[in-house]
Amino acid sequence: MTNNILVFIEQRDGKVFRASYQSLSLAGKLAEKTGGAVEALLIGSGVGSLADEVASYGASKIYAVDDDALARYTSTSYTSAFVSALDSADPGIVLVPTTFMGRDLAARVAARKRAALAVDCIDLGFDGDNLVATKTMYAGKLTARFTLSADRLRVATIRSNVFPADEPQSGASAEVVNVAYSSDESSLVCKEVVSTSSGIKDVTEADIVVSGGRSLKSEENFKIIYELAETLDGAVGASRAACDAGYQPHSRQVGLTGKVVTPALYIACGIDGAIQHLAGMRGSKVIVAINTKPEAPIFKVATYGCVMDLFELVPLLTQELQKLKG
Ligand code: FAD
Repeated sequence: MTNNILVFIEQRDGKVFRASYQSLSLAGKLAEKTGGAVEALLIGSGVGSLADEVASYGASKIYAVDDDALARYTSTSYTSAFVSALDSADPGIVLVPTTFMGRDLAARVAARKRAALAVDCIDLGFDGDNLVATKTMYAGKLTARFTLSADRLRVATIRSNVFPADEPQSGASAEVVNVAYSSDESSLVCKEVVSTSSGIKDVTEADIVVSGGRSLKSEENFKIIYELAETLDGAVGASRAACDAGYQPHSRQVGLTGKVVTPALYIACGIDGAIQHLAGMRGSKVIVAINTKPEAPIFKVATYGCVMDLFELVPLLTQELQKLKG
């Protein structure tokens, strides 16, 4: 086992998720302590073309498992591609962004390699040679540290938007190692992907998130949330109650059982601030809460609070921001 750190680069249709570059930057900081190299892993079809971009974020070597059979994600095919790359790279630590794909993949890969696994880490450091992973537990009520000993491979998934990504360095290049992949006929096959995306950004990829709660009362009323989000070039999020009621798809749900976001600005419109919702957004840099109830728990974490009816304030905000934008 080497002291190198390998980062899984998640991409879809040739677009890399920014959480991957956040993990790559974190790997750079950890590698200063291990003295190893920062390497990256690309899996997919035609992913070799992403090598220069990935190199610009600090990878000195890129393992590419490039095969038409990997054009769409399936747990079994990506796990076997990942394991083949690990056999070739032999890193000491593997970092994977905490996304739906990352969670699925990291657990399977760790099991196959008999590795130590820590998921959804908000910090990584060292105690001697041992890796110390920090994560929140019980809906953010406590922070726990886990020691992953150096006698085996360590796999950690990294919470999105906790670590900043370094600026890309133009002109950087990396050695590309092509890893052979033999598709397994008996494995799961993805025949069709039905996209539910409306074109508006994903909550985990946006710098500004405008979220609505149950108080919006209907899918149609969410129009005012979309208008504000679009004016701010942001994404639309929702509480679980709003998603359960069918006002928004669960892909927009923020919280413990939804997505974790840490945007520069989070605007919570008519969201009470249950602990499970806070677990997904309390790391946002600036939080604006709009709620008619002064004692709503969301105000405890808010940077700015507006005790007001969202149906009055949200359209007004959109109107004023549009004026400012000219
Ligand atoms: P409510 O609790 O109904 O709050 C509505 C708020 O809107 C109130 O504060 C009210 O004062 C305000 N309001 C009403 N009308 C207006 C108006 N016109 N203008 C302004 N304000 C108004 N929840 C999540 O969000 N994400 C999760 O991931 C999640 N995971 C969960 C996991 C578990 C295991 C459990 C048990 C629960 C989970 N929940 C989650 C649910 C959570 O406990 C809350 O029930 C949910 O967040 C409430 O959503 P809400 O704030 O939209 O609705």
